[in-house]
Amino acid sequence: MKILIADNAGFCFGVKRAVKVAYDQINRDDNRRTYTYGELIHNPQVVRDLEDKGIKTIDGIDNLKENDRIIIRTHGIPEKTYKDLKEKKIELIDMTCPFVKRVQKIVNGYYKKGYTIVIIGDKNHPEVIGVNGWCDNSAYVIESVNDVQLLPYIDKACVVAQTTITQKMWEDSLNLLKLKVNELVSFNTICDATNKRQSSAEEISKKADVMIVIGGKNSSNTQKLKRICEKNCKRTIQVENADEIDLSIFNDNDIVGITAGASTPDYLIQEVINKIAINRKEDTNG
Ligand code: SF4
Repeated sequence: MKILIADNAGFCFGVKRAVKVAYDQINRDDNRRTYTYGELIHNPQVVRDLEDKGIKTIDGIDNLKENDRIIIRTHGIPEKTYKDLKEKKIELIDMTCPFVKRVQKIVNGYYKKGYTIVIIGDKNHPEVIGVNGWCDNSAYVIESVNDVQLLPYIDKACVVAQTTITQKMWEDSLNLLKLKVNELVSFNTICDATNKRQSSAEEISKKADVMIVIGGKNSSNTQKLKRICEKNCKRTIQVENADEIDLSIFNDNDIVGITAGASTPDYLIQEVINKIAINRKEDTNG
């Protein structure tokens, strides 16, 4: 058996930074209660570990008290939530990924100039909810090319992408959108880390007999990786950790490809590699 590990698998720059800062808060001795606004990353092990160390997840800000501290995750938050946190005098540690901040800024700027905002992405994803909050929640959110067909004719629109959608989804939607909008300004805001991770996964999945995608069940970028891999490799499985791997699915001559979503820590990837490599006593391409 041979193991191929996709480049750019696992933690991206934004997630790495957010996780480091969250762990940095654990040993502060000012007795402030510290929370993350929503699960910091889509990885249950990391979220549980932070909770065990005193950093709890909250889904709303109603129960926060003055001087509490809150960490904003990479997905960002709506403009109004910043105002609400300021009014409540909550200390903010803003870990919104700079690539997401850029999308918020574009949306806010064009909204103020009178453009209709279109976001290509998942309407229930926190990043999209946050971005939509920078244009008074007025955006049309496109989840599939069918949604573009349902749009009314628009005079002026600005279109952006959720940072983790696929290039194909962006291109297909944009081509149709051009027929619906008189003046269209487009910003392909898919982040480079996502692009590179998806291309590497695609490349490896073309060579693999079995493809393992490591990542949280709620992670949208992991789901997309899985869909990309499934197109080239029928035996694609998604796992959250090494325990979920059933070694009996492998044949001796299999080429096993491994990739991981943006919220998957290196140690989890390593555990998966170890489990397969040790049990099959074969080489990896490192
Ligand atoms: S996937 Fe890209 S946009 Fe999202 S947190 Fe990572 S670096 Fe930032």
